[in-house]
Amino acid sequence: MPMYEYGCLDCARQFERLLPMNAADQHIVCPFCQSTRVQRRLSLFATHSRGEASAPAVAATMSDSGCSCSSCGCGSRS
Ligand SMILES: [Zn+2]
Repeated sequence: MPMYEYGCLDCARQFERLLPMNAADQHIVCPFCQSTRVQRRLSLFATHSRGEASAPAVAATMSDSGCSCSSCGCGSRS
């Protein structure tokens, strides 16, 4: 069952819902302020949400380039 991430347009909080596919577009109400102005952001599979708007793909790309430290002698600066 996919996890959907929503952002409330009124209180700017984010929350997640586990919903069946056919329920993804159902009426979602913000659990914090009960607003119905809720926007679906992403559909993820059990991804940790830290409440940041940045795309997860960016972090994945950065870590993909190997060690970025400059003090362990791994040669990433060469
Ligand atoms: Zn809200």
